[in-house]
Amino acid sequence: MKRLMSNLHEIGEIGKTEEGYNRIEFSREYFRAAETFLDKLKKLGLKAWIDEVGNVIGEKAGRYPELPYIIIGSHLDTVKNGGLYDGNLGVMCALECMELLAENETVTDHTIRIAAFNAEEGLRLGGTFGSIAVFGTGNIEKENNLEELPEVGLTMENIRNSKWEENKIGAYLELHIEQGDQLFKKGKTIGIVNGIVGIERYRIKINGESNHGGTTSMESRKDAVKTAGELITYMYSLCEKYPHPFVFTIGDIKISPACYNVIPEYAELFVEIRDMKRENIYSFIADIKEFSKRYKDTETEFIHVLEKYPYVLDENIRNIIEKVCIKNNISYMELSSGAGHDAMCVPEDKPAVMIFVPSENGISHNKMEFTSESDIEMGTLTMFETLLEMDKQI
Ligand SMILES: [Zn+2]
Repeated sequence: MKRLMSNLHEIGEIGKTEEGYNRIEFSREYFRAAETFLDKLKKLGLKAWIDEVGNVIGEKAGRYPELPYIIIGSHLDTVKNGGLYDGNLGVMCALECMELLAENETVTDHTIRIAAFNAEEGLRLGGTFGSIAVFGTGNIEKENNLEELPEVGLTMENIRNSKWEENKIGAYLELHIEQGDQLFKKGKTIGIVNGIVGIERYRIKINGESNHGGTTSMESRKDAVKTAGELITYMYSLCEKYPHPFVFTIGDIKISPACYNVIPEYAELFVEIRDMKRENIYSFIADIKEFSKRYKDTETEFIHVLEKYPYVLDENIRNIIEKVCIKNNISYMELSSGAGHDAMCVPEDKPAVMIFVPSENGISHNKMEFTSESDIEMGTLTMFETLLEMDKQI
């Protein structure tokens, strides 16, 4: 544990400031951390390199080279003023698994690849950029901000060169902090993640008519904000129909022309819905579309901005994690992830799983992020034993 905690702080504190931890993708701090991590992999005798998009990869050959890789890891970049644990912890627990394999002189059947991904937070390039490049999934041209590529010194060629052979991808295992408060609130040590929620984003545009705010009677107004307000109330009440992890957010509201004495002719709501069940998201949208039709003085338009399908994590390996927890008397629960992760970039026909450890008070993307040493220890034990079992079973 001493070794793991020391690695966690050594690499995690690269880029630490008063305000938080800053290893923004492609920054000098990110690459300093990547180089430090690379050295550690090489010291362990692994074949290791930094690929063309800035991911750090290490490889420990297995007994049967024809078998596909088992991949373990997480990301090394942070948000602006992030915490010590997001991403970094998963990478250091994966490193600890490699240390334990070396220490015990264990030779696995499968080749194990350890990955510290770049640009998971995707502040410039869009989320999970590094893992999308490696796994070759998703529509990188559509979903990532590739116009930023020259800014970070990359070309499409670099992305293409970073892709792994698809038939070499065997399975993926990632440990991550929960970033929510379910484990903390319920006093559980391990979260067995059943999936990563899907996301839909809409811009709801409401068109009315502007007029004098003093002389136009309340009955004769075509007030876009009035419709927006009633729609907002309706949407929040509708949320009560759907259980967790369904979440709904209005992240921004625009009003025009935005003066005290002019009835707004225009309002726009930036809406995001997340859930594991696509049918819930669709029925929510259908309901609000129907509801909006009752407003005859204004016109409501729904612009579909983004759709990401829910990602289901592998049930067989989830069962392995559960057995490991029971065997070691570690408390656990099943949950889903409301946040996106590198795991969801693994091709859907390959098994991927995630282990969550508690975030104290559910805080993350903040320098106050905290996970206790004993939870980290149990998380690593669970991860290591799951890895050994995966090696036998996949
Ligand atoms: Zn993360």
